[in-house]
Amino acid sequence: MIKFLDLEKINNRYRTELEDRFKVILDKGWYLQGNENKIFSENFASYCGTQHCVGVANGLDALTLLIKASGFGPGDEIIVPSNTYIATILAISNNGCTPVLVEPDMDTYNIDVNKIEEKITSKTKAIMVVHLYGYAVAMDKVNEVAKRHNLKVFEDCAQAHGAIYNGKRVGNLSDGGAFSFYPGKNLGCFGDGGAVTTNDKDLYEKIKAIANYGSHVKYQNLYKGVNSRLDEMQAAVVDVKLKYLDADNQKRREISKYYRDNIKNEHIILPKAYAEEAHVWHVFAIRSESRDKLQQYLTDKGIQTLIHYPIPPHKQQAYSEWNHESYPLSEKIHSTILSVPMSPVLTDDEVETVVKALNDYQG
Ligand SMILES: *Cc1c(COP(=O)(O)O)cnc(C)c1O
Repeated sequence: MIKFLDLEKINNRYRTELEDRFKVILDKGWYLQGNENKIFSENFASYCGTQHCVGVANGLDALTLLIKASGFGPGDEIIVPSNTYIATILAISNNGCTPVLVEPDMDTYNIDVNKIEEKITSKTKAIMVVHLYGYAVAMDKVNEVAKRHNLKVFEDCAQAHGAIYNGKRVGNLSDGGAFSFYPGKNLGCFGDGGAVTTNDKDLYEKIKAIANYGSHVKYQNLYKGVNSRLDEMQAAVVDVKLKYLDADNQKRREISKYYRDNIKNEHIILPKAYAEEAHVWHVFAIRSESRDKLQQYLTDKGIQTLIHYPIPPHKQQAYSEWNHESYPLSEKIHSTILSVPMSPVLTDDEVETVVKALNDYQG
């Protein structure tokens, strides 16, 4: 069987290095807000090219804290793609803000940057983009619109660690980037983890405090904060793996290139990349009008696939107020999309097997 993602194989490559780091933590007996978190935050900021990074408990918290620390709340609108994972939308509504959905561009599946401006009202405070599937959004246009309307821009980088747009990495293309280190992400830990990157020193200080009970100094509470910290074990894991992230992303690009050059089937639409460096292929998402049949066909051939995602946010029960609304492009993507195996540990044979199966599919 070809696994969608073999996490055990991915992480076992670093077993010795990880064991050494865990031993240091065990010997020291210091589990939160210690040296591992400090070292990783510095290394990740430097990797992304930003001045600051705060480790937090998960990706949803990273997104939520960016909005909270910027002072946005009830009555404020935040523009967000309609085609995204639910976490991006939850981060907005959990702050009491109103998510305003914008349809995707069918070439990139990311927010259509040309449809943002028409959604701006006097209540709009920010634009939250998502580098979906690992594909960096064309940020120049987003930042230009935001500047003209005096809006903040945030990036959901949970799927795009290391992707580059115009020479800069995601997380360094806006007022703040939110990352997830959920195990299956391109940079994943052994549980939950996340981070915020920014060049705004005030925002950095505020997020750091809010994530730690609203406190800069122990037992002095400046804000009504939360508890959202990247623990020492998880920080050590992502710090070890960060050194190999570019090589892993490069491997994903090579597999993607091979898929794109060799999969030839009129029933399958392949993803594109406007520049190789702009995409880190968190998933390789193909589309087919007979998606469910194609998924069953691949399952029968021992090839695991996943759907990212089966139900669009506006059709979720949690957002029943939107259920009657129509976002046809988003709906189209959700009903046709299928992610096939993609990871830095796929073997050439496995990749070839996937290609052959897809080319043999009769529709
Ligand atoms: C994974 C993911 C998140 C949430 O990250 P968690 O660490 O699971 O909270 C947010 N946005 C997107 C696009 C994601 O893929």
